Amino acid sequence: MYRMQKMCQKCPVDAISMRKGKAFISDDACINCGKCIRVCPVKAILKDREIVELEVASNIKSLRKGLAKSKNKRSKNRMIKNRMRQMRVQEKVLRNTLKELKHLKL
Ligand code: SF4
Repeated sequence: MYRMQKMCQKCPVDAISMRKGKAFISDDACINCGKCIRVCPVKAILKDREIVELEVASNIKSLRKGLAKSKNKRSKNRMIKNRMRQMRVQEKVLRNTLKELKHLKL
């Protein structure tokens, strides 16, 4: 518990709060400085790169699960192509959202 409190104290913007022995990070307040990552006693906070790796692994795992259920090579190829198309759409949505965010006036 003391080490968790130490982690909270490291945050320059008080984005970490403790509730019932667990630490919560406010997305709105966090400035992504990374100070809490270095002091987290249980290495529970992930760096952006680690999040990307986990998400990619999870996507591939889920696709492999679907492919295992598929009967023939043709339907497997269709499944892969469909997943790629879905991801391209998601990519476009994210890219356009990022563009909008850059020009967001407050
Ligand atoms: S990364 Fe966010 S939560 Fe962690 S110390 Fe920095 S501002 Fe606080």
